[in-house]
Amino acid sequence: MDILKKIIVRPVVEGDEYLYDESRMPGGKADAVFLPENIEELSVLVSYLYSEKTPFTVYGKGTGITGASVPFGGVVISLEKMNKKKSLHRCEKSGRDFLSVEPGVTLAEIRDSLKDLFYPVDPTEMSASIGGTVATNASGACSFKYDSTREWVKSLKIVLPDGTVAHIERGEYFADSNGDIHFLGKKIKVPEYQMPKCKNAAGLYSCKGMDIIDLFIGSEGILGIIAEIEVWLENKMPTASFIAFFDDEERAFEFVQVLRPCKIKPEFIEYVDSSGLEMLEKKSLDDPASLNIPKLPDNSRAGIFFDMAYVSEGILEVLEITDEMLGNARGLAGSFCAWENIEKERIKFFRHALPETVNGFISEIKRNYPDIHKLGTDIAVPHEMFGEMNEFSKNTLMKSGLKFVSFGHIGDSHIHFNIIPQNYDELDAGKRIYGILVSKAVELGGTVSAEHGIGKLKHKYLETMYGKKGIDEIRRVKKCFDPEFLLNRGNMFDPGKK
Ligand SMILES: Cc1cc2nc3c(=O)[nH]c(=O)nc-3n(C[C@H](O)[C@H](O)[C@H](O)COP(=O)(O)OP(=O)(O)OC[C@H]3O[C@@H](n4cnc5c(N)ncnc54)[C@H](O)[C@@H]3O)c2cc1C
Repeated sequence: MDILKKIIVRPVVEGDEYLYDESRMPGGKADAVFLPENIEELSVLVSYLYSEKTPFTVYGKGTGITGASVPFGGVVISLEKMNKKKSLHRCEKSGRDFLSVEPGVTLAEIRDSLKDLFYPVDPTEMSASIGGTVATNASGACSFKYDSTREWVKSLKIVLPDGTVAHIERGEYFADSNGDIHFLGKKIKVPEYQMPKCKNAAGLYSCKGMDIIDLFIGSEGILGIIAEIEVWLENKMPTASFIAFFDDEERAFEFVQVLRPCKIKPEFIEYVDSSGLEMLEKKSLDDPASLNIPKLPDNSRAGIFFDMAYVSEGILEVLEITDEMLGNARGLAGSFCAWENIEKERIKFFRHALPETVNGFISEIKRNYPDIHKLGTDIAVPHEMFGEMNEFSKNTLMKSGLKFVSFGHIGDSHIHFNIIPQNYDELDAGKRIYGILVSKAVELGGTVSAEHGIGKLKHKYLETMYGKKGIDEIRRVKKCFDPEFLLNRGNMFDPGKK
């Protein structure tokens, strides 16, 4: 009880930051926010809330875009004050370096604290907390080379919904041949659905003989609160940045086929379509103070961004290899390349300018239609299905007459189609098309969400992927840890039915 009294708590008022994430999902409400400062406080608090049957929602930094940290009743537990511990270690057995951190530490803080090492998960939004990124199995452009968060988690300390603290080291608890994991006296039956054979952040992880740590990673906080994390690190290497332009989308895609298996594996491979290039050029002409990009080669209809790492004197080899690949793929003369930091930053800025430019368009439309929002797909499919998915998406959208732009992680066959509705009728039409694209992706063995997760906004699409049976299997795992359904209610599935 003494510990409970020490925990910082304050009421949540209308418009409070804890009622929103970056999706700006409306309707959030909570009575209070608790701000525990360490794992002991967190454990005591959670066990108290459970005994009182009070629902609680975990808040990292609120950068999610699926409403996953938006509370609908009960209280919020914000982990922002659990951000002090950060220490570097070396694993004697493997010789690899790893970082031990509290969940409230941000990715930017991790990046800035490391000198010759880096944490390779880069979900663009560096203000995200490491706890939030583990809970959502975040990934991004660099997952092409380094995979998603899951690959980098060495161990977790988790406060379970009843307040018990569990320490899970990768490699300790596995599912047996019946698909059961025996853990802390519980028998957990892992979901039986087949995960898509592509990058995926939808639903609980499941595969034969799986490690229990993977059940928690990407669970959107429905099974427990991640209170301490150990993640592996990599050695930093110098990189060169490139943008290759093509006069035809197909040529750009052919280039990606050559780039993927290249002997120097690119750090990432990103794509932008012709509408995206036009938007960026227009913005650069209209408002050079906010975006100043060099003139693009004539007839640029598609762009591929990629970075290549090299050992200290190896820049010439990288340039030779890329030059040859580009020549063979008939890339346009005038493609960009940089290895000095200032120029590399310019290319990075160019790459990141597109989502912001799209958001700028949406803000303009919002002046007349305040409830308008962008509809961005997060679909990925297995590589061999990418061509079909892309054609289908483009044709469906072109037939609809809706304005759209596509860009993103082509290395992972994960392109975001951003629909930009000009009025409410178009918003409705866009939502219908979104559902059609999801169904097509599932038919092709893909996922509705490769990186952003399901949260509270995409329940029906998770059901499209795994069916009612799959949702019941997720519900069953949840019930094992949280029989009262108090923690992170409403993520992944409707909490109405226990
Ligand atoms: C501009 C922009 C670009 C983005 N790009 C990408 C991208 O490329 N790839 C990508 O993957 N994501 C991307 N995101 C989404 C976002 O950054 C991630 O979802 C992030 O991982 C969430 O971290 P957070 O700390 O903000 O968590 P929150 O948004 O606060 O929470 C997200 C979920 O995690 C749970 N949670 C948080 N902390 C914990 C914890 N310690 N234990 C248990 N559960 C917890 C919450 O309850 C919630 O369910 C982007 C977001 C923005 C705004």
